[in-house]
Amino acid sequence: MTSPDYKRILLKLSGEVLMGEQDYGIDPAYVAELAREVKAAKDTGLEICLVIGGGNIFRGMAGAAQGMDRAQADYMGMLATVMNALAMQNALEQLGVQTRVQSAIQMDAVCEPVIRRRAERHLEKGRVVIFAAGVGAPYFTTDSGAALRAAEMRCDALFKGTSVDGIYDSDPKKNPDAKRFDTVGYGQVLANNLRVMDASAVALCRDNDIPIVVFSIREKGNLARVLAGEGVQTIVTEPENEEA
Ligand code: UDP
Repeated sequence: MTSPDYKRILLKLSGEVLMGEQDYGIDPAYVAELAREVKAAKDTGLEICLVIGGGNIFRGMAGAAQGMDRAQADYMGMLATVMNALAMQNALEQLGVQTRVQSAIQMDAVCEPVIRRRAERHLEKGRVVIFAAGVGAPYFTTDSGAALRAAEMRCDALFKGTSVDGIYDSDPKKNPDAKRFDTVGYGQVLANNLRVMDASAVALCRDNDIPIVVFSIREKGNLARVLAGEGVQTIVTEPENEEA
């Protein structure tokens, strides 16, 4: 595979990768590891937008399953993403990387509101912009927030760093013969309900021609390899862009 020419990317990290080996919450040592990966990517000259989930702290669906009002639980989930964003901001700034957090739920004492033009300016100045609180509305996930910000910031691709090294035709934890795709069409992901991102996020990427690169962020140095077009990954794209 040739090295893709990315200038600006959106990196989406699941909240669970911030837990490290813990079962819950934030492991500062592991967040520092992730920050080193982000810094290495930034040092290659890339402009980086970051979106971090909140699943390591709270998910609205889990709250709803236990009897909570879904919307109320989702707002709690969005607040969890702000905590993760602040943890990552701290880790990046300890490495000397300038960052700004912009939240879709306004909270002036801790971060900026989402203002696209201001975010543009931050990127031009070499800052990493961390977008928090998803789309700012319940019944969505941070995957949709990531797709939305990737579209409005005109990112060349959405990189989804997670615990799995790509998209499989069945659950690799349950089926040892599960096959990983190198590339797969948006349509196939949606039609076969391949669990990679929620459908609204995939559709938004499809409609705006944003490739989705799914890879494992748990392996050291993997982000750099994947950005160079190497390493294990699955790229979601239009079928005509898929490799033979
Ligand atoms: N959430 C929401 N709207 C959004 C983004 C997030 O309601 O636009 C809530 C939702 O409850 C979700 C939680 O925040 O479960 C944490 O985000 P997510 O599950 O996407 O985190 P991840 O799985 O990436 O860690």
